[in-house]
Amino acid sequence: MNNRSERIGFALGRASVSTVWKLAAVYIMLLASADSVVLIAQDQNEAELLKQKVYSSISAEESQDFQRKGLPQRGDWLAQFPETGQSLELYKTKDSRILTTQKRRRIVLQPLGEFSAEQKLLLEALREYTQVYFQTEARIATSIRLLSPEKSRLGRTLPEEVRTDRYARQYDAIKLVNDLLMKKLPYDATVFLGITMEDLYAKDMNYVFGYGSFDQRTGVYSLARYFPEFWNEPSDERSKTVALRRAFKVLNHETSHVFGLKHCIFYDCTMNGGNSLEEADATSMHECPVCHQKLLWNLKFDPVSRFKRLKTIYEKHGLKEEAAWVANRSENWQQANGQDRAK
Ligand SMILES: [Zn+2]
Ligand SMILES: [Zn+2]
Repeated sequence: MNNRSERIGFALGRASVSTVWKLAAVYIMLLASADSVVLIAQDQNEAELLKQKVYSSISAEESQDFQRKGLPQRGDWLAQFPETGQSLELYKTKDSRILTTQKRRRIVLQPLGEFSAEQKLLLEALREYTQVYFQTEARIATSIRLLSPEKSRLGRTLPEEVRTDRYARQYDAIKLVNDLLMKKLPYDATVFLGITMEDLYAKDMNYVFGYGSFDQRTGVYSLARYFPEFWNEPSDERSKTVALRRAFKVLNHETSHVFGLKHCIFYDCTMNGGNSLEEADATSMHECPVCHQKLLWNLKFDPVSRFKRLKTIYEKHGLKEEAAWVANRSENWQQANGQDRAK
């Protein structure tokens, strides 16, 4: 275990003193973000039955690029928080599912706090990626300053409460959403997402990557822990690519939650729950056929054109494996769906 995973292990381990149900509820609320209904300790037979039903509805061609999700290992998300899964049918019947309308037609990214010149470029890359991934116009709102920890100690009631943990100062993710972002929800936002380079926490959790309110179409996530600077480690080209991959992935995962997608239990998929940075890194950054169908049903895009644009953006940012993967997926998708591959 390297330094980084030890630190993460520590961070997660310290939180595990809470009672199991409380931890599970808080943890899922925080990391699963937009899941408005979370069933804990439900019958795993239900999950297995749904898995078999879903697998039988997906053709071999359609699923050839995806590994079926096996039994969870100790420490994995699904071992800690069993979930029953969400088929396309269940997704379609979800009453509070968010739909883009003529007025609410943009994904609005809201920078919170300081961004260096380099980080601003990352923000623009995220905007472009969001636009392509969800085939929905995305814009960056004017940055909102966060008050410094020093000012927050003056005793005033502030929307962004700050604390200092062992590694960094941290902002309260729930307060950022409820007391700051929700009050600034733009008229044109189908989804409103705060992005910050500051570290976040919530309740008794040591840290969180993000938090979102499905009902309010609003979320916040931190990119801080994806970069070596956070861990006082040197930055190089490789670490920048790793950080970008993580940033893209958290963005597609959390934004999909706000669009009503729950965690995926069917395949290796970007919508798998992640219990740690390691588990999140190990899973695909692409949506499986089931999650793809949900996005397609809700957002109504041309899959082939989307795959092509995703390939272009991955190439542009040096994510060669992702570019090759999506090109192959596009070929296979067209074959599975009887479309002209020469297009
Ligand atoms: Zn999640
Ligand atoms: Zn999936």
